[in-house]
Amino acid sequence: MCTDCGANYSLSSPPLINWTCDVCGGEVVQREDDTEEAIERRLELYERQTAPLIEWYRDRNQLASVPGTGSPDAVTRRMVKVIEQRRGQKGGWPT
Ligand SMILES: [Zn+2]
Repeated sequence: MCTDCGANYSLSSPPLINWTCDVCGGEVVQREDDTEEAIERRLELYERQTAPLIEWYRDRNQLASVPGTGSPDAVTRRMVKVIEQRRGQKGGWPT
């Protein structure tokens, strides 16, 4: 990402000039948590610590899923909607 304007780049769409921002000419750096090793570690932690929660909540009938695609606002609206639906149901989530 660009340290000046925050523009994002990736290995598949790098800046035109190495490590130089297309937008503002600033310095482009690789975030430490974006290295292959760091991403592998995050995925490992997810499998070990986060994924088991899915079953835990499902067993207690407290799991709802929403598609994570689209803008953050769109995903948030889906989450709010499903929470409000569950709160309105008998045996839904506690209020
Ligand atoms: Zn920039």
